[in-house]
Amino acid sequence: MASNQALLIIDYTNDFVADDGALTCGEPGQALAPRIVQLADQMSAAGDWVLLPTDVHTPNDPYHPESKLFPPHNVRNTWGRELYGPLKDWYEEHQTESTVWEFDKTRYSSFAGTDLDLRLRERHVDTLHLVGVCTDICVLHTAVDAYNLGYQLVIHQDAVASFDAAGHEWALRHFKNSLGATVL
Ligand code: ZN
Repeated sequence: MASNQALLIIDYTNDFVADDGALTCGEPGQALAPRIVQLADQMSAAGDWVLLPTDVHTPNDPYHPESKLFPPHNVRNTWGRELYGPLKDWYEEHQTESTVWEFDKTRYSSFAGTDLDLRLRERHVDTLHLVGVCTDICVLHTAVDAYNLGYQLVIHQDAVASFDAAGHEWALRHFKNSLGATVL
C-alpha cells in the first residue's frame, strides 16, 4: 500500500538519551520511548515509512563545526550511537522491512548532506511526522529544511524532548506559528 506519510525518529540514541550518554536529554528523553515505539508500530502497520536519521561523527574531527561546540558523541560503532533501549529492540525486529530505514546524518538537519529529500520524493511522501531529540536542535533544523522543501509537518509533542526546557517550549511554538506544523 502506497503511503504519503513518513515517521522520522531523530537521534534517539544512547548518547542523546541514556543516563550515561555524552549529550543526554536525560529523563525527559527516556520518557518518550514507549510513545516512539507505539508510533513506529502504528505507522509501519499502516504502510507508512519509518525512518531513523542518526547522527554520526568521527571523534575530534578538526573540520566538523560541532567539534568546537560539543564533546565527542554518536561516534560510529560505539555504544553511544546505538538506538536507545526499547527503540533498539523495535529496530532489530523491523529493520529488514522495506519501509524501515536507518541512515547516517552528520549535521543537525536530517536533510543536510543526505539523500532524504530524493527518497521521500520518489515515494511521493508529502507529510512528515517528527519525533525524537532534541526538540530545539536536530528536530528543529529538520523541520525548517522540510518546511522550505514544501513538506507538511506533524510534530508529536509527547514524543520530542530536549535538555533545555525553555528551548523545547520555544521550538514547539515555532513549529506551529512559523512552520505551519500540526503539533499533536
Ligand atoms: Zn552531532
